[in-house]
Order: sequence, then C-alpha cells, then structure tokens
Amino acid sequence: MDYDIVIGMEIHAELKTKSKIFCSCSTEFGADENTHTCPVCLGLPGVLPVINEKVVEYAARAGLALNCDIANFSKMDRKNYFYPDLPKAYQTSQFDLPICTGGTVDIDIDGETKPIGITRIHIEEDAGKLLHESADGTLVDNNRCGVPLIEIVTEPDITSSQEARVFAEKIRNTLEFTGVSDCKMQEGSIRFDVNLSVKPKGSEELGTRTEMKNLNSFRALERAIEYESKRQIKEIEDGNRIIQETRKWDDNAGRSFSLRSKEEAHDYRYFPEPDLVPIILSDEQIEKFRSELPELPEEKRARYINELGLPEYDAQQLTNSIETAEFFEKTVDLINEPKLVSNWLMVEIPPLLKEKEITIADIPFEPKDLAELLSLIKDQTISGKIAKDVLADMFEQKGSPKEIVEKNGLAQMSDSGELESIIEEIIANNPKSIEDIRGGNKKAYGFLTGQVMRMTKGKANPQLANQIIREKVEELL
Ligand code: ADP
Ligand code: MG
Ligand code: ZN
Repeated sequence: MDYDIVIGMEIHAELKTKSKIFCSCSTEFGADENTHTCPVCLGLPGVLPVINEKVVEYAARAGLALNCDIANFSKMDRKNYFYPDLPKAYQTSQFDLPICTGGTVDIDIDGETKPIGITRIHIEEDAGKLLHESADGTLVDNNRCGVPLIEIVTEPDITSSQEARVFAEKIRNTLEFTGVSDCKMQEGSIRFDVNLSVKPKGSEELGTRTEMKNLNSFRALERAIEYESKRQIKEIEDGNRIIQETRKWDDNAGRSFSLRSKEEAHDYRYFPEPDLVPIILSDEQIEKFRSELPELPEEKRARYINELGLPEYDAQQLTNSIETAEFFEKTVDLINEPKLVSNWLMVEIPPLLKEKEITIADIPFEPKDLAELLSLIKDQTISGKIAKDVLADMFEQKGSPKEIVEKNGLAQMSDSGELESIIEEIIANNPKSIEDIRGGNKKAYGFLTGQVMRMTKGKANPQLANQIIREKVEELL
C-alpha cells in the first residue's frame, strides 16, 4: 500500500530582547551558570512579573512577517507542569488567546509554490537547562529561565522531509531578517519539533502522530523524518498500532527511540495568569509594526534580480544570511558593480572565512574595504589574481587594500616602456615561439603572455602585455 506522510511543526525561537520576559535579567548566551537570575525568573514566592514590551512587539512583528492576524486582545496563561529546570513549576505561556493566528508561508518546491498554514504563534518563557556532564550528578543552570520565546505552530500541511526542510529554512531566514531572533541553531535559539503521522494514500482521516523535539540541524530534521515515516509504515504493515508518544532522535545512531507516551502528560491545567494584565494592541500599533517591517528575504531576492541584474542563484546565496545581504548592499552602495561584489562574496571570501573558522559576521574588514579592493581591479591598478593575494592579507589585518598594494609593490605595470624591455627580452629568449607563430600556430602568443606574467609576478597588465607582444612579434615576421 502507498502512504501519505503528514507533518505539523512547532518551532521555538528565542527573541533577541536584551532582558528577559518578566524581569530585567540579561538574556545573553554563554554567561557563568546561574548568574543571570533573580527572584522573578526563579519563581520565588511573592514576586510579581511585568511583561517586557519588546517581547510583545517582536512577537507581533514575527506574526506580520508570517502573514498572521495579530490579536487586539490576547492574554498570558499558566501551563502547569513540574520539571527540574523550571523552578516556578509552571510555564507562563498563552493558551486560548494567542497573539497571532491564521498565517501562511509559501514554500518553493521543485518550481512550484505551496502554502503552509500557520495555526498560531504564542508568547512564552523558556525553561533553564540541565547539565548532565558533571560527576556529581545533574546540575541545573537557570540562566535561560524566562528568556522570551515565540512558539510557531503549523497546520499539518507538510508532506515530506524535503518540504519540512525548505519550510524550516524559510522560517529561520524570515525571522532572522525580521530582526526578532538571531536564530542561531548551535546556541539553541531556534528549535524545531516535528509531529508526524502516516495514512493510506488519499485517506481523509489523519493517523496517530508521534512528536520529535528539538531537532537541532536541518540535516537532523530531514533524517529524523525519513526514519520516523518508514518506522510508522512498517509498524502499520506489521499489524501494530502507532502509539502517540514523544520520541528522541539520535543523530549519531541514525534512529529515534521512545521517550514518554503523550497520554500521561496531557493535562496542563491551563488557567489565566492572575499576575499579568491582558495584552492590548490597537489597530494603529499593529499597522505601525507592519509599516516598519524590514525588507524580507523574498523581497530582497526580487530586488537583486530585477534592479541589480543578478542571476537568481546569486540572489538566493546572498540572502541566505542577513549579514551577507547587508555586507553585499553596503559594498554595492560604494561601488556600483553588483555582479562583481557578488562574485567576491560568494566565491573568494567563503574559503577564507572557512579557513579562519569564522562567519561573515566576524569578518575582519568592512564593506568599504571590499569596495576599495574591487575598485583597484576595476581601474586596473591590480589584476584579479593579485587582488586575491590582497584579500588574504586583508584577512590578516595587514592594512587597507591600497596600503597592502603599496607596501608590497603590487600595482600593475601599466608603464609600456618598462614592459617593452621585458617583452623584448622574452622574445629574444624564445625563438621557438616566433617560429611557431610564423608557422601559423597562434597559441604561442598565449605562451609569451604567460612568460610576461611570470617574469612580472603577475603584475603586468595582461591587455597591455598582449598588445606589445603582438606589435613586437609582427615586426619580426
Ligand atoms: P498539542 O496540543 O498536543 O501540542 P496540537 O493540536 O497543538 O497538539 O498540534 C501540535 C502539532 O501537531 C501541530 O503542528 C499540528 O499541525 C500537528 N498535528 C496534529 N495532528 C497531527 C497528525 N495526526 N499528524 C501530524 N501532525 C499533526
Ligand atoms: Mg503543542
Ligand atoms: Zn530574572
């Protein structure tokens, strides 16, 4: 029998506010354990939370970027459960009246557009972290308690691992460009949960689903879906029923295993949070947020293609991260050569970033320096080949491109007098090449140009060298 795969995703993204959701503790990642805590985020008795206005604003902006309706009235609720890294023993979240509902995100699959429904986006607080490494047992770090999150819940509209990946990448890309989350997967600031079921092909009724939490790379997401859909199909073919449960994906082992059955943990006894007032947003505020949305990746891609004349591939690559897009745009503002800038950002710079194990966010020079380098190529002060060496020195922070060129005497030889004497010498030393040219073998010209480039260590202006070679050789023919 053939089966349909049905997937709905829940995505948690940490909002990049400076302080936590209900207190003024810092949200900064990587601090010493339990140094970013206070009575409010530790849930000590008698404290009163106050919601961070930025959290509401960022959640609404995310909703607008994902085409949701933003509620004029929403409220916070308590979701009661005990967990060792949640000292309050409840999570402040949103239940029946979330801030955003009814969105849609279009994904491109094999040249076709498919809409994925967004059921809701709600605001909630993150829990702490358990550290199991210690020989003393398990320790708890509460720094992450109360870091603001949005949870994005989709309709069960996704039907393959490929769609799930494209969708997840688009969500991350959109949130990053919207400026509400830094979406660093390796720091857990965006996390993907997959709900998956299978059903006989074409059947209306959904099968029983399992849930896999915290898939922390796109590759793991794809592999977990492949594995889980095959596992469920096999269970059904073997005559077993699927148990609704939470499963953990082990990326090293390439398999998932059961963590806990869902039935046990279902009643969270939600009730309205009595310590917080409802969240009221006027239409004017919502429209203001809408008008302030930055240019999103899709809009940027369209502009790069239509206004800057870039190929679609370049537009796609440059908008994969906000840092790359910004570096590109700032450079193009200074040197109006979009394709040249794009080539250097896509081809020449990435290997050097990789070698240094950094991303473009930490590149040791500015867009103005790249613009300066490219203008040196454009005005023929240096060749493209020399420019690559200059770029390597820029990565070593050896100065501005102009300084590096000057210090190392890299400027192209565009003085024909100097080149002429070098070329005369080369012609005198290569009588065989002149013979070849006489015999009709034009390739020998290329050989002579190569010799000039070698003698000058790449500094000869190749067009000029070519021209002089032809003049000199013709005199001999
Ligand atoms: P819960 O309250 O248990 O979290 P929800 O109804 O909120 O359940 O659904 C959570 C996610 O699971 C949503 O993304 C939804 O689209 C997805 N989902 C629900 N039922 C199924 C199913 N039968 N198969 C696959 N995904 C499902
Ligand atoms: Mg849920
Ligand atoms: Zn605090």
